[in-house]
Amino acid sequence: MAQETIFEKILKKEISAAVVYEDDHVLAFKDIHPQAPVHVLVIPKTKAKNFSEMSRWAPNDTGEFVNRIGIVAEKLGLERQGYRVVFNCGEYGGQTVDYIHAHILGGKPLNISMA
Ligand code: AMP
Repeated sequence: MAQETIFEKILKKEISAAVVYEDDHVLAFKDIHPQAPVHVLVIPKTKAKNFSEMSRWAPNDTGEFVNRIGIVAEKLGLERQGYRVVFNCGEYGGQTVDYIHAHILGGKPLNISMA
């Protein structure tokens, strides 16, 4: 059996996190090493390893996840000035935790570097 990721432990409340939003579909919490004044991770309660695996979900389920990312960004007060949503996928994408997560970054103008 694949080893449980740290995010599954956070979902099960075995490890604490600074939770900013939770509902039936997602949990959102502050990144422990923030890269911007606001840096929150949104994870779905349905497991997917990464973006590629999530893209094979039924469209409704993908839509619920995307919808919640927008709701969290709004609740964080980021809508007016804007923000960035990032999914790192796999080794070359820089993914370090094998449980899909959306990074929401904001609170300052972000540079446009892609690499
Ligand atoms: P990625 O590189 O896209 O896989 O991002 C993983 C993110 O998870 C990194 O930005 C880490 O800082 C963050 N992270 C790792 N462990 C924790 C934790 N226990 N609580 C909050 N964020 C974490």
